[in-house]
Amino acid sequence: MAGRDFDLFVIGAGSGGVRAARFSSDRGARVAVAEDRYLGGTCVNVGCVPKKLFVYASHFAHELSDATSGYGWTVASTSFDWPTLRDNKTREIERLNGIYEGLLRDAGVQHIEGRATIVDPHTVQVGGTSYTTENILVATGGWPTVPEIPGAELAVTSNELFYLETLPRKAIIVGGGYIAVEFACIFDGLGVDVTQLYRGPLFLRGFDHDVRTHLADQIRGRGVDLRFDTNVTAIEKSGAGLRATLTDGSSLDADLVLFATGRHPNSSGIGLEDLGVERAPGGAIVVDAYSRTNVPSIWAIGDVTDRIALTPVAIHEGVCLADTLFGGKPRSPDHENVPAAVFSQPAVGTVGLTEEQARQAFGSIDVYRSTFRALKQTLTPSTLRTMMKLIVDRASDRVVGLHMVGPEAGEIVQGFAVAIKAGATKADFDATLGIHPTSAEEFVTMRTPVKD
Ligand SMILES: Cc1cc2nc3c(=O)[nH]c(=O)nc-3n(C[C@H](O)[C@H](O)[C@H](O)COP(=O)(O)OP(=O)(O)OC[C@H]3O[C@@H](n4cnc5c(N)ncnc54)[C@H](O)[C@@H]3O)c2cc1C
Repeated sequence: MAGRDFDLFVIGAGSGGVRAARFSSDRGARVAVAEDRYLGGTCVNVGCVPKKLFVYASHFAHELSDATSGYGWTVASTSFDWPTLRDNKTREIERLNGIYEGLLRDAGVQHIEGRATIVDPHTVQVGGTSYTTENILVATGGWPTVPEIPGAELAVTSNELFYLETLPRKAIIVGGGYIAVEFACIFDGLGVDVTQLYRGPLFLRGFDHDVRTHLADQIRGRGVDLRFDTNVTAIEKSGAGLRATLTDGSSLDADLVLFATGRHPNSSGIGLEDLGVERAPGGAIVVDAYSRTNVPSIWAIGDVTDRIALTPVAIHEGVCLADTLFGGKPRSPDHENVPAAVFSQPAVGTVGLTEEQARQAFGSIDVYRSTFRALKQTLTPSTLRTMMKLIVDRASDRVVGLHMVGPEAGEIVQGFAVAIKAGATKADFDATLGIHPTSAEEFVTMRTPVKD
């Protein structure tokens, strides 16, 4: 190790890279991190954080509607100003960039600005300067995938969406993953006329089937024109706007087309090919249980490994890596029972197995499901319905899946995720008293399984 510039050279200062760098430095390592775009990575700059701020912004539309339709409020007139939201958001993100800079500095990590490439298993180059290192960590994240169709360059991805000059009057959102769903709901709340197109028969692949169908109904109820088995085949300019040709031959006019058509690991052009670092067909870097690649000094974490592409997972993988390399206790990341949310409106919260997965894993399961109108909605004409679902392994009585579609689902499911992680049984849920009146209490009061 002596003679090399660093013990760990991290490529990418996103969720995973920053955590791995800081924690490795805390454990006594000499660490550098190279970043070519923005400190904090996708989550802070063009992902979770600005997205959630936009979700809050669009929520006010529903709150105002409930307030005036059922709760006796009179609101003289309301209007929404996109540049105010966009610029307030950008100021907050710039503040967070500064905080990340400070975190790295305080941890003694050397921040190197620029695009890094790997020259050999112990050398990284940034802007013409070479740095030698004992270990290299690739934490370069993911990048939006844009379909190869005529006129694709006229559309935007989530990267550009956060900085739009003007709010569109009509938007086409292409995609069926959580990012597409969230932006359809954000725009809808902000008063944009939204059409969401998904090429498959039902969006949110990988989520519980009841969650997918219930959310589709709710989103349609909000007024989003949600079309499945439909895709865009071409985009062209039309007057001041855009015209999208659809798979059924019809066309659709809009001011904006968003491609939220998946993301791919950002693993090309950084030298991995020349070194023979193994990658899966989609580009994901192949790693072992400890995040090590087939080249022993090169490691990879986060979205670039495409295990579970979420910020807390990338952070967890970063902490485990620091422990493995410099903490004296090799630790492999735990990818079981990772809770997740979709910040749609209504939101989705989920932890554990879907009904389909549980049936395959255990064969004999009980399913508890409740669909109801939350108390808050009872005074309003809103058609919003909450859905909650528990999946129980009959043999062990363990709750192996918990799903919700409804307001604050992410906040509610985060708490229940502890119980699921701890192996709680249905009897434990039954023995827990509810907090009344809440929606969350339904999770501890469901008594009769759904008939098979
Ligand atoms: C619109 C959107 C919404 C999302 N919402 C959520 C959410 O609500 N909750 C959630 O948990 N996750 C969410 N995610 C996913 C989350 O952002 C990612 O899982 C997370 O950021 C992955 O962290 P990472 O460290 O792997 O990569 P990133 O955070 O993407 O960081 C990678 C960094 O590497 C840098 N980089 C790349 N190549 C180089 C190079 N050669 N040299 C130097 N630097 C380089 C990039 O500029 C980037 O800053 C969202 C993502 C998107 C796009």
